[in-house]
Amino acid sequence: MPNPQRITERLFQSPSKYIQGPAALHNAPKYLSALGRSPLLAVDNIVYDIAGKALIETLQQADFKVTRGVFAGEASGEEIDRLTSIGRENSCDFVIGLGGGKTIDTAKGVADLLGVQVAILPTTASTDAPCSALSVIYQPTGEFERYSFYDKNPNFVLVDTSVIVKAPPRFLAAGIGDAVATNCEARQCRNSLNFGGALPTEVSVAIGQKCEEILFKYGKQAYEANKAQAVTPAFEAVVEANTLLSGLGFESGGLAAAHAVHNGFTAIHGVHHLMHGEKVAFGTIVQLVLDGESTSEIDRYIELMLSVDLPVTFELLGIPKVTSEDLRKVAELACAPGETIWNMERVITPEIVVSALKGADAAGRDYIARTGWSKSK
Ligand SMILES: [Zn+2]
Repeated sequence: MPNPQRITERLFQSPSKYIQGPAALHNAPKYLSALGRSPLLAVDNIVYDIAGKALIETLQQADFKVTRGVFAGEASGEEIDRLTSIGRENSCDFVIGLGGGKTIDTAKGVADLLGVQVAILPTTASTDAPCSALSVIYQPTGEFERYSFYDKNPNFVLVDTSVIVKAPPRFLAAGIGDAVATNCEARQCRNSLNFGGALPTEVSVAIGQKCEEILFKYGKQAYEANKAQAVTPAFEAVVEANTLLSGLGFESGGLAAAHAVHNGFTAIHGVHHLMHGEKVAFGTIVQLVLDGESTSEIDRYIELMLSVDLPVTFELLGIPKVTSEDLRKVAELACAPGETIWNMERVITPEIVVSALKGADAAGRDYIARTGWSKSK
C-alpha cells in the first residue's frame, strides 16, 4: 500500500457532466455547445459508419464546424501527435472522442495537447475509460506502455444507449469484466493513493460497492437484453455501472492486482485478440486467489463471469498451452515498478503472481468441472 509521503488528504474527481439515455447522440448539440463550435471528431472508420456520419450531420445542422480525424486503431503517442496536428491545422476548439476505449484514450490525449475541452461519446459499454482523467498508452505494436495523466477529467460524457445496445454483447460483457474488478481492487486501496494522488473518499468506496451490486443483480439480464437489442432498465443500469461507476470507482478508489495482471498479459502473444475487460475479469480471479479468498467467494465471481461468457481459465482465454515461461513474463510485467499491484496488502513477488495465475486457472477449471458449465451459443 504505497503512500511514501504520508499524504492525508482524501480526493474525489469526476467529469463535469454525465448524460445517458436512448437518444443522447441526437440531443448532442444541446450539450456540446457549451464546449465550442469547431470540434475535432476522433472516430475510426467502422464507428464512423455506425454513428459518426449521423453525429456529424446532427452537429452541422446545429452550425458546428466539424473536422473529422480518422483514428487509426492504436492509442499510441504517435497517434495522439498525429491527430493533434490535424486539430491544430483546423483551429479546433474542442475534441470529441466517439468510439471504444482506445479512441477515447486517444481523444483525451489530443485534447490535453491542444489545451481544449473534451467530450467522450462511447459507442460501447466495454471499458471504464470514458470518465477518467487518464489514458492507457500502448506502443504502436499493442504492448502496454504507460498511464498518461491529465489535469482534468473529460468535461462531458454522453452515452447513447440505443447505440450501445447495437454493439455485440461481447462488448457489454467485457465492460462487466472491467467493472467487476472495481470493488475488489478498491478494497485493497483504503490506505493507498488513488489516481488523483490522495486517499479514497467514502463515496469512492460506496461507488465500488454499488457497481458490484448492480452487476450481480442485472449483469446476466442485461447481457441477454443486449442480445435482443433491447434497452431495458437492467441494460441501462449495467451500462451505467460499466461506464460511470466503474470509471469513478477505479480512478478515485484505486486499482490493485486485477489491472496489473491485465497489463502483464500484454507481454505475451495469444491474448491480443481479447478485450481489456476480458483480461481484467481473469485478473480479478487472480487477485481473489492472491488475496486468499474462500472457494465460495471466488465461485460467486466465476459464476457471474461465466454467465456472460467471460474467460475464467487459460483455455477460455485462448492460451490452453501457456508455458510457465510465458506466465513468468506476465507476472514480471504485472510487478513492474509503479504498477498498481503494489497496492495489494499481501506480500507480492513475481513467483507469487505466477502461482496465483495458475491458481485462478485451476479454480476456474474446478468450478466448470463441478457445475458442468458449457459455453452458451
Ligand atoms: Zn479497466
